[in-house]
Amino acid sequence: MSIYEQLGVRPLINAVGPATRIGGMRLDPEVLTAMREASQDFVRIDELQEAAGRVIAEATGAEAGYVTAGAAAGVMLATAACMTGTDPVLINRLPEREGMPYEVVIQRTQRYDYDHAVRAAGATLVEVGYPDLVFGYEVEAAINERTAAGLYFPVHTRPEVPLEEFVAIAHRHGVPVIVDAALEVPPVENLRAFIAAGADVVVFSGGKAIAGPQASGIVCGRADLIRAIALHHQDMDVRPQTWTYRHLIETGILAGPPHHGIGRALKVGKEEIAGLVVALQRYLGRDHAADQQRWRSTLDRIAGELEPGDGVRTEFRSGRGTVPTLAVHLDRETVGRSAYAILAELQDGDPRIFVNEEQAWQETLVINPIALRDGEDELVARALALVLQPAKRRTHATTY
Ligand SMILES: *Cc1c(COP(=O)(O)O)cnc(C)c1O
Repeated sequence: MSIYEQLGVRPLINAVGPATRIGGMRLDPEVLTAMREASQDFVRIDELQEAAGRVIAEATGAEAGYVTAGAAAGVMLATAACMTGTDPVLINRLPEREGMPYEVVIQRTQRYDYDHAVRAAGATLVEVGYPDLVFGYEVEAAINERTAAGLYFPVHTRPEVPLEEFVAIAHRHGVPVIVDAALEVPPVENLRAFIAAGADVVVFSGGKAIAGPQASGIVCGRADLIRAIALHHQDMDVRPQTWTYRHLIETGILAGPPHHGIGRALKVGKEEIAGLVVALQRYLGRDHAADQQRWRSTLDRIAGELEPGDGVRTEFRSGRGTVPTLAVHLDRETVGRSAYAILAELQDGDPRIFVNEEQAWQETLVINPIALRDGEDELVARALALVLQPAKRRTHATTY
């Protein structure tokens, strides 16, 4: 009996992509092996993080790297690091923020649902510009002595201040820039692109296309900020006399170790760190062109099963090495039901099928192939064709 059978929880087919609410991605056997091996022996987590950090630094071109409990955790930790630096007194103080900068500048075009992680660190978001247009001088005018960081979320859909300019403005005032690149891989080149563009801390999700443990993430960037992240994050039930980093105290860099920080609630275990490292290495070694082809043929097979007469029009979407998707536009008249009704029926069917609902408000279903395994494309196509059919008959019935 599988664990899900034991628990009485029915599995589903994931045509949404790496969404946390339905379990993210499948883990590769080699990632699982690394996690199992890691679980059987004890190590100092700070040493393991440093070793993982070297792999991440190598992969990203950054000075240093770190494994977090996801990209959202990474954004929160990066924000905290920008507020306090490595000062243990300030680290202990968060989320109260006397004596430290606490504003994080964000373009209004880039407000998004994960920026709560910035506020969760104790910071206040300062929005600049209009919802559809931002100018550089507005970013500049928002920076003052309370500014801890700028947050950049690459949305690619609206005219705004590009990253290079955003970084240049922030750096003119000594302000670091955090990039939330959680969803920016693939393309694999983006592992390096934001660091190359001058960002100070870049955050990636480990549990999306990189296919690391679901609750893992990557931060990379300036060594001093990564060190501050470690201080906020690690289990600090340590004594200065025996602490791994006691040389920092001896050389006067730190007054002493901080206590448990705001990031202690976001811990990662040795298993996640090991799994993330192996997933990242495997991701770097993938044949990315072959991935693109496989995704495209998966979508081709699904599109091939859908008849235009069913009241659907399909459209392939792809761009710049991202995961291609299939948009299924529904004709409300022919289908006789809303996209939301179709989605609900697919979710409750047997097998349960989940497709992306972000555009359901426009009567469009979006199919993402990244989490589909062989054979599931057929099930998705058949289920879609089936849920559209009875609606067609029902429409006829009401006509007579
Ligand atoms: C998915 C996502 C996150 C959260 O990533 P986790 O690894 O699940 O914490 C944060 N920001 C953006 C833009 C995302 O797409």
